[in-house]
Amino acid sequence: MSNNGEIGHPIIIAGAGIGGLTAALSLRAQGHEIVLMDKARQLSEVGAGLQLSPNACSVLDQLGLLEDLAPYAYAPDFVKIWSAKSGEELARVTMGAFLKERHGYPFWEIHRADLQRVLLERVQATDGISLRLSSEVLDLEASPYDPLTCIFQDEEVTGNLHCKALIGADGVWSKTRRLVPGHEDAHFSGQVAYRATVPIDAVPARWRQDANLWFHKSAHLVHYPVRGGRELNIVGLVEESWKDETWSAKANKETLLKIFRDWPTEVRNLLTIPETWLKWALCSVSAAGPWTHGSIALIGDAAHAMLPFMAQGAGMSIEDAAVLAQHMPQNVDNIPAAFRAFERQRKDRVQHIQGISFKNARTFHYGGAMAFARDTVLRLSKPESLAARFDDIYGWTPGQ
Ligand SMILES: Cc1cc2nc3c(=O)[nH]c(=O)nc-3n(C[C@H](O)[C@H](O)[C@H](O)COP(=O)(O)OP(=O)(O)OC[C@H]3O[C@@H](n4cnc5c(N)ncnc54)[C@H](O)[C@@H]3O)c2cc1C
Repeated sequence: MSNNGEIGHPIIIAGAGIGGLTAALSLRAQGHEIVLMDKARQLSEVGAGLQLSPNACSVLDQLGLLEDLAPYAYAPDFVKIWSAKSGEELARVTMGAFLKERHGYPFWEIHRADLQRVLLERVQATDGISLRLSSEVLDLEASPYDPLTCIFQDEEVTGNLHCKALIGADGVWSKTRRLVPGHEDAHFSGQVAYRATVPIDAVPARWRQDANLWFHKSAHLVHYPVRGGRELNIVGLVEESWKDETWSAKANKETLLKIFRDWPTEVRNLLTIPETWLKWALCSVSAAGPWTHGSIALIGDAAHAMLPFMAQGAGMSIEDAAVLAQHMPQNVDNIPAAFRAFERQRKDRVQHIQGISFKNARTFHYGGAMAFARDTVLRLSKPESLAARFDDIYGWTPGQ
């Protein structure tokens, strides 16, 4: 595989999701030619709410995107934590101005489609990034002679394109992951997320602000405004054996209401509002596996998909993109070494956050004595100290 920068050839990025689009902008800022391929015919309005915590916002600020994103974002003053068994508010986590002052950047809730669109518009307005939709990256051929050849499938034919490196940003069900020997496949967690968004006017006034997190045995619920406060995002996370490789399977509302049958009436009323529910199976990819091989680097969910219990999946893909680009100045003379350095720099942090997500997957769904102990600790906790617990996650900036 190539050991040098090959200035004449582009870097190919597989996947124009959150990490791929951010990587295209970040690597272009270093002077590289970029070809960004996505297997989707169009990058449509799929998905629901995501968190952009201060660490992710610091990268988006560096790319000059915060102003464009602001009209679509919602900044909660608090995350309110509730017991769905008793209906009691257990604790509040201070967010809003407190986090912005502490870390220099906001904590935002945003619809994935709004984030993707803003990134995409910037990509389309940037010379030197060529976007190819309906192009699924399949393989990479390497020879002792430069350059590398990327094999992809467009709507009709199998094509190939020379490149100096391949970034696999193709999500949790990545194909490029197979090009990195020793990497494991995505692992199904046994949990499924039911999601819906509704106009904010359709929900009772008390649910139109802040982020709300409800705990119950074997399930939890999250709801918060998105789209600048114009819609409410509702996600119910339940233990279920169904799994499929899709973000948008049609879900049965009656099944959902049955799962939440012993929850407080006001929650059940909220769940009856959306006419349509969609669901996706929660999968993870161990961050411990290798992320790079020669001139191939995996970023985001392709490298280390995590359960959404620390709300850092999008944030980690955005951080990966920024750090990868830092290791890739235009005159980089040893891409494999640059990619290895990227992996070394990122691994501990991503494994740490993935570990918290796994831990939360258990504590959020406690029942009995464990739930009692968790709730007691929460009742005694101060709103600002709960927020400060995540200083190491939220305080990260691309300069670190
Ligand atoms: C359609 C969709 C909807 C989502 N909805 C939500 C949601 O509601 N809530 C949530 O928390 N997370 C959602 N996610 C996941 C979330 O975006 C990621 O967990 C996180 O942002 C990390 O992003 P990523 O860039 O690593 O991968 P993703 O944002 O998942 O992007 C991966 C991209 O790669 C493309 N792709 C896949 N295989 C290939 C290939 N072989 N060649 C070329 N392109 C390929 C996909 O079409 C996709 O655009 C969604 C992802 C997708 C793709």
